[in-house]
Amino acid sequence: MRWTPRSSFAAAIVCLFRYNSRFGLYTCGVEEYISVIIGVPKESYPGERRVALVPMVVPNLVKAGFEIVIETGAGVEAGYPDAFYLEKGAKILPDRAAVFGKADIVAQVLCYGSNDVTGKADLALMRRGQVLIGFLRPLGSVEVLQQVAQTGVTSFSVELMPRTTRAQSMDALSSMATICGYKAVLIAADTLPRIFPMLTTAAGTVTPARILIIGAGVAGLQAIATARRLGAVVSAYDMRPASKEQVQSLGGRFVELPIEAKDAQDARGYGTAQDESFYAKQRELLTRVIAESDIVITTAVVPGKKAPMLVTADMVKGMAPGSVIFDLAAERGGNCELTRAGQTVVEHGVTIIGIINVASKVPYHASQMYARNLTAFLLNLVKDGKLRPDTEDEIIRDTLLTRGGEIVNPRVREFLALPELVGQGAK
Ligand code: NAD
Repeated sequence: MRWTPRSSFAAAIVCLFRYNSRFGLYTCGVEEYISVIIGVPKESYPGERRVALVPMVVPNLVKAGFEIVIETGAGVEAGYPDAFYLEKGAKILPDRAAVFGKADIVAQVLCYGSNDVTGKADLALMRRGQVLIGFLRPLGSVEVLQQVAQTGVTSFSVELMPRTTRAQSMDALSSMATICGYKAVLIAADTLPRIFPMLTTAAGTVTPARILIIGAGVAGLQAIATARRLGAVVSAYDMRPASKEQVQSLGGRFVELPIEAKDAQDARGYGTAQDESFYAKQRELLTRVIAESDIVITTAVVPGKKAPMLVTADMVKGMAPGSVIFDLAAERGGNCELTRAGQTVVEHGVTIIGIINVASKVPYHASQMYARNLTAFLLNLVKDGKLRPDTEDEIIRDTLLTRGGEIVNPRVREFLALPELVGQGAK
């Protein structure tokens, strides 16, 4: 074994999750120098064009002591050919099995869990103690998560990133939501048979498009900013009163409804699920403003729950022909009754776009942002050239999903109604 500062990571990974039951802490008992290899396989979800690491982050990771291996062609669809990775100091491997076989840490965008089409094939490639980082849909299927756990991988789910200032640079959900909000406006604009800005021309005045955003989280706020840049008149609604100021700061008009959500926001800043009578009232109150909009972009979701239905078939019927609805919640059940996930349909003359995996439609920058998020996360595992995964660190603690054959994240276990873990494997 070669002893170099950079090679301390794997040793620490080995001991990272050693549970010291006496003190109720994970402790690092050995400090041994062995090399740690980060492997990036090509994304396998159909139509997925992103890649987990881009060439520009490679030097930083190499400097910190990691070795990077990339499956050949992994970055091509995002605009990053193999040669760019080689130039920055990564190695190219011929296939997926070689990457999984070599890597101590596998970095993906859509891991099995969030990739329910082809992701299962990766189970056979994973091995005990290997680290897996990516979107794992931790509040999804318990069976799938148990299959991942049973491989023995130590997985970190980026969806579980705490919403703290320190973790902001690692917040992949927000990065992807930013891309989605931007792209949804462009696709809707391209579909709408009108233009966005007000124009005064020799041929008369053209009135601006009216855009309504429902759900002013990260995606919604980016949609407001993008639609405003294109010259539209933008309104937005969110059940969290705190969003009013953010909407207005972007030049949007905040739609005030005379109803109040109960505990609208949880401790992490996410919107909360409401009862059906609240949603019924919302639909009633939103009917007029939706009928007056040329484009409605919906982003209203609640973690781990089916998206609330806020736009009924009748409300769609009330919109002018040629209007557009972009349902960014399509993958989560949809905010519109007529949304078909993965499809674009025309109902009552209104185009309803239910495209899923929207971030993949901007693969260059989506990959760049994601890679920077992952790099910040990986570097957080390193202190003074050595892997010092502080398990008291809430970033590590909160994102740790499976280890030693178990789903170990207490929040996820509670959500999935799994019994609390005690002793070995408990947090
Ligand atoms: P999200 O993707 O979970 O949901 C989108 C929006 O839908 C939310 O604003 C939510 O309130 C809204 N919504 C849910 N149900 C609704 C309903 N029935 N009617 C109307 N709106 C409904 O949201 P997000 O992007 O995670 O953002 C939520 C908040 O968290 C925002 O204020 C955002 O700025 C904040 N945030 C903070 C951090 C951080 O502190 N690091 C990171 C990301 C987001």
